[in-house]
Amino acid sequence: MGTGRNTTIIRSNYLYDESARIYDHALDLWDGLSQELNYNVMYSKRGVMMLAHNVHDMQSFHRHIHANRLNGVDNQWLTPEEAKAYCPPLSISKNARYPVMGAALQKKGGVARHDSVAWGYARAAAALGVDIIQNCAVTGIKRAADGAVEGIETERGFIATPKVGVSAAGNSSVLMEMAGLRFPLESYPLQALVSEPVKPVFPCVVMSNTVHAYISQSDKGELVIGAGTDQYVSYSQHGALHIIEHTLASICEIFPLFKRMRMLRSWGGVVDVTPDRSPILGKTPVPGLYVNCGWGTGGFKATPGAGHLLAHTIAKDEPHKINAPFTLDRFRTGRLIDEAAAAAVAH
Ligand SMILES: Cc1cc2nc3c(=O)[nH]c(=O)nc-3n(C[C@H](O)[C@H](O)[C@H](O)COP(=O)(O)OP(=O)(O)OC[C@H]3O[C@@H](n4cnc5c(N)ncnc54)[C@H](O)[C@@H]3O)c2cc1C
Repeated sequence: MGTGRNTTIIRSNYLYDESARIYDHALDLWDGLSQELNYNVMYSKRGVMMLAHNVHDMQSFHRHIHANRLNGVDNQWLTPEEAKAYCPPLSISKNARYPVMGAALQKKGGVARHDSVAWGYARAAAALGVDIIQNCAVTGIKRAADGAVEGIETERGFIATPKVGVSAAGNSSVLMEMAGLRFPLESYPLQALVSEPVKPVFPCVVMSNTVHAYISQSDKGELVIGAGTDQYVSYSQHGALHIIEHTLASICEIFPLFKRMRMLRSWGGVVDVTPDRSPILGKTPVPGLYVNCGWGTGGFKATPGAGHLLAHTIAKDEPHKINAPFTLDRFRTGRLIDEAAAAAVAH
């Protein structure tokens, strides 16, 4: 489960209008989520800072900042000194291999506790009467003679239903194949690792796409560090060692203070990546089958928004205007929403 295995970064500073709407919708919902679920999801708006290390980064981040502002999404430019003031462990030495030339800061971005999000939703859903059947794999999607969904086969038997919503992240293409659909998804392992716990030293979230690492500190005190995806497709939940070695080299370069920190554990999850790095959220060509997938390395931040939009689409049998552009059909028509640069994770 990706929701329970991620680096918990929440932000909405993507480039295109469609993305601004979908990610900012989610960000707005994070604000009241603890109250709504009556469960503390520990959403902490500590700011997400994306480092620029070369002229291309600076130009691209300025473009993002301007585009975000036009869409009412907060994002601001910081000089290296301002970035250091916001995040004191940051090295802005001019002698670094890739010196920090500035940063884009989204103050409303931050982190939430991933387990609490899963537990909070599960508890609130159960209170509404939803049956949650754990450890029960779906093995088939049954379709009637007219092609519409009739129900699902599971390890514990058949469930008849005219409507099925699929949210299976790295296994989405496997599930969609059960309904006879081929999806434009590639599944990659993505890793994260945490350090031994230390007292509060790291006040925000920092991402560097160029040197390539991202980092924050959990409430338990561990530094939570993320890497890029493996370069080959796989369903393995262990990533390759050289990826995290490279990530830690980057962390030591940007934060020399952490050179002697010991790492406690690492883990991987499988992420489903679309060609334009934007999700597919809506109806499928199979009547009664709905999908929420393709969030790749960045779907945790969308949790409340994706949940709301999928529920709307299933209930009304038509997408909400926010998820209407995120169709499967865009890969046929060419109306892509290319967020490869904003994904900020190498893949
Ligand atoms: C290491 C790592 C770091 C990440 N960091 C971030 C981050 O900082 N910020 C961010 O926004 N996103 C991040 N992500 C991505 C994010 O975790 C995912 O996009 C998100 O969790 C997807 O949520 P989901 O609910 O769609 O799927 P998941 O939470 O993955 O849930 C899918 C569920 O489907 C189940 N399933 C699969 N196949 C079947 C089947 N046949 N039958 C029944 N059940 C099935 C799985 O067991 C799983 O429980 C990260 C991912 C990883 C792996």
